[in-house]
Amino acid sequence: MTANQSSHTAHAGKRIEQLRKLIAYHRTLYYTFDAPELSDAAFDSLVHELEALEKQFPQYAHAHSPTQTVGAAPLEEFQKAPHETPMLSFTDAFSPQELSEWLTRAENYTHQKLSTQENKTPLFYCELKIDGLAIELIYEKGILIQALTRGDGYIGEDVTVQVRTIADIPQQLEQLGSWPVPPKVIIRGEVYLTKDMLSRINAQQQKEGKKPYANTRNLAAGSLRQLDPTITASRKLLSFQYDIASTLPFTVATHEQYHQVLASWGCTVNPHNRTAKALKDVYALRDAWEKKRDKLAYEIDGLVVLLNNNELFTRAGVVGRAPRGAIAYKFKALEATTIVRGVRVQVGRTGVLTPVAELDPVLVGGVTITNATLHNFDEIKRLDVRMGDTVVVTRSGDVIPKITHVLTQLRTGKEKAIPIPTKCPIDGSLVVADGVFLKCSNKRCGARNRNSIIHFVSRAAFDIRGLGKKIVDRFLDEGLIGDAGDIFFLTQGDIENLERFGEKSATNLIQEISDAEKITLDKFIYALGIPHVGEETARTLAKKIQHDAKKLSVPEIMRVLQSYSLEILQELPDVGPKVAQSIYEWVRDTHNQILIRKLTEAHIALTQKSQKTGGVLKGKIICITGTLSNFSRAHAKTLIEEAGGTFHASVTGKVNIVIAGDNPGSKLNQAKDLGIEVWNEQMFIQKLGL
Ligand SMILES: [Zn+2]
Repeated sequence: MTANQSSHTAHAGKRIEQLRKLIAYHRTLYYTFDAPELSDAAFDSLVHELEALEKQFPQYAHAHSPTQTVGAAPLEEFQKAPHETPMLSFTDAFSPQELSEWLTRAENYTHQKLSTQENKTPLFYCELKIDGLAIELIYEKGILIQALTRGDGYIGEDVTVQVRTIADIPQQLEQLGSWPVPPKVIIRGEVYLTKDMLSRINAQQQKEGKKPYANTRNLAAGSLRQLDPTITASRKLLSFQYDIASTLPFTVATHEQYHQVLASWGCTVNPHNRTAKALKDVYALRDAWEKKRDKLAYEIDGLVVLLNNNELFTRAGVVGRAPRGAIAYKFKALEATTIVRGVRVQVGRTGVLTPVAELDPVLVGGVTITNATLHNFDEIKRLDVRMGDTVVVTRSGDVIPKITHVLTQLRTGKEKAIPIPTKCPIDGSLVVADGVFLKCSNKRCGARNRNSIIHFVSRAAFDIRGLGKKIVDRFLDEGLIGDAGDIFFLTQGDIENLERFGEKSATNLIQEISDAEKITLDKFIYALGIPHVGEETARTLAKKIQHDAKKLSVPEIMRVLQSYSLEILQELPDVGPKVAQSIYEWVRDTHNQILIRKLTEAHIALTQKSQKTGGVLKGKIICITGTLSNFSRAHAKTLIEEAGGTFHASVTGKVNIVIAGDNPGSKLNQAKDLGIEVWNEQMFIQKLGL
């Protein structure tokens, strides 16, 4: 083992230890006090990291790790009772891939190829995963004699009195079908509370100046674990029953049948549960419920998928704290934990400086997130976030992800404070305070920066049509981009969650940006927005640079441009002293170097004048009438000539093609009279492959 590896291992050991403590702490808050500080998703994210580290560094594995135990110790106030068989929990899956890996594992343990059994008994039983708390109900001679919470999975709390207030739980089982009620039976289910009840109770809490409950599950748990059962009764708890945990005097072949048996005894079973023949049906069912979950009166957070065949389920066995024959296939989590690597400062339209955190890539709600907004420098102070910190990132509604928590317990001492800028990153002007915001003291800075981005993506420049003015403003306001160079570093995940940006339009824009990375030299120079350098001058400069540069790359182009003296620049056609001075200064301005560096890193591929057009108009005589929206007359003439055509000012019998722009004059009628082919501007663009 090298020194580097061993320090890496020691670092992992320390992190594992910190994670275990933190998880145990949050688990106690969650299970014992029903008062979580972290969302399930953020908590799961920590457990996932710990599991991955324990797998990678097995020397640190430990039987008392929170990854090996369920729940937390029961509260002192309640009578304790052991479970006859442990109440396990489920492993989570978040993607089709994880689900298919689960099936492969189940195949390995049952020694049976399961995925090919599609046409016999349905392979899976899928249940809505209700966000409540698990309950165990013990019936003797059909009478409910005891109800226990899960507790730590082995010992639960006796909540029999409280459970008697729940209408969905039968006090007495009855034989309504062909299955007899055995002398003793242990039934398991979920106790939950409606969303409506949560908002009613929280409204009351607020009125009384008390803290609102975090979610329906915690309120359900809190309501059940009331020493005074009249409080429990007032909360109108509900329940579904879904499993039988004791042996039966008759054979039950499938999990689906368990539900039928339960229903025949008068239990409450969820009517939305379904069998599924193949994994693809499970994916579809989960996706459908993710969309319509809001329509349910209660919260669900995914599906529980079980091997329907009970014999296979048993044969798959148990791993750690979870049965191998079942998995919780959860909806996309909108929170996760990750590490802040750096913070960059971006200048918005109005000159406001927005700090944006650069994160280790993390999957949040199905998309990879690398940036999160920190809003302003007061927020950094309030959160006390530092570079190197582990943080909770949240995606909610229609805004870019934000940092909501800093997990200070995971600090190593190497975290660095985030510096507060004193100078504007765009133009170097001093920064001034404006309420909680910092602003560039140059009032024109933000607007100028915005205009230069809009110029950069305009048709004659990089031509990124998906980036209209409104979108540029949105990206600036959200801190997704600070200058034109940032455009090339946007990811699908960065933009997918913005309002009016679905997955598809995000994909399209990312594709369009990637296509734009290939650009002709003249358009590139025009895009830079050097004052007084229009399309014509950019073309002139491009010709000269092409001649002098060793290769076409961004740094080489800049080297050549910087090598030009004012005299050399002035020798170029149409370049007067004013334009020469402007170019000379632009390439030497240190703030422009930031943009150049980003464009270099973005691997912009510069090309010579478009080879694509070569020859497509060979031998054709072409005339233009009206105004073209994408090209000046001179530019269009150049394009025609580059494509091998000849430009003709008036329509005569020799002309082969007339290109008609807006407000075409008499030339269009002449062309029609002479039977000459007419193209609109779009056809011209298409034919030339522009
Ligand atoms: Zn500024």
